[in-house]
Amino acid sequence: MSGKQIIISEVGARDGLQTQPVQVSTADKIRMLYALSATGLRRIEVTSFVHPKIVPQMADAEDVLAGMHRAPGVRYAAFVPNIKGAERALAARVEDFKSGVAVSETFNSLNVRMSTGQAMQAFADISAFAKGTSSQVVGVLGTAFGCPYEGDMPVERCLPLIEVMVEGCAKLIYFADTTGMANPGSIARLVEAAQKRWPEINFGLHLHNTRGLGLANALAGLERGVTDFESSIGGMGGCPYAPLAVGNICTEDFVHMLHGMGYETALDLDALIAAARLTETILGAKLPGMVLRAGKASELHDAEKKRDKAPA
Ligand code: ZN
Repeated sequence: MSGKQIIISEVGARDGLQTQPVQVSTADKIRMLYALSATGLRRIEVTSFVHPKIVPQMADAEDVLAGMHRAPGVRYAAFVPNIKGAERALAARVEDFKSGVAVSETFNSLNVRMSTGQAMQAFADISAFAKGTSSQVVGVLGTAFGCPYEGDMPVERCLPLIEVMVEGCAKLIYFADTTGMANPGSIARLVEAAQKRWPEINFGLHLHNTRGLGLANALAGLERGVTDFESSIGGMGGCPYAPLAVGNICTEDFVHMLHGMGYETALDLDALIAAARLTETILGAKLPGMVLRAGKASELHDAEKKRDKAPA
């Protein structure tokens, strides 16, 4: 096992909530973030500074950031698509500006209404803006493993975009499997190519479980020394521009796996499960997380109770 600690960035409040059919109130988002901030998480994505018409769920970005409790030692992030968003995020005291571009031209035009070139320019502008502030830019390379409209994204198409992010001073860059098209082989190819070319940069993974490969893909990253992952509480979420919206890998399921394998996370799994339960209550819906239903593998059952019920 790697001695390095695995750092999880919780994205449920943004990636998870933005596609929910119910409008979650600002007060409930703050309750959810409060619970998440008490789990040992050190990176929490709070909201998105996109235009409210594009993502109505995130229209209260400023109110959430102004009203929430900030736990010491936690970096609070927001998705920032353009310079206007960066200005709003800075005013709202966001520490990490998540910004980036999708490898797929079609996906950029749908998701952020920009060409890939325009999105890269926006990233460069946001990076330049962040340099004079106490906030930092975290790069996100969307559809890095495939696009539902254009198909596979070869490594050669990803590398020039990663280069722009590295030049823009991103020290941490997530490769996002936005619509769940990656497999452990494609994860290994991109991670290895990027690590080889930029050994000084921290490459993380943002994974979705659309085709059931979320944790297998995470394992492929772990085996290549990836220490930064994005996941969402209860596995909620999706993407409005993916034909089938399925959530991120589930934070508590992933942490359950990591702890079972002996990885350090500094996270309180019980507190994460409690936060997932609270999120279900807020949404009034069941979330796809599995440990939430099955319990931890360490929670043993009473065999005698089963024996009574067993058929003779
Ligand atoms: Zn996502």
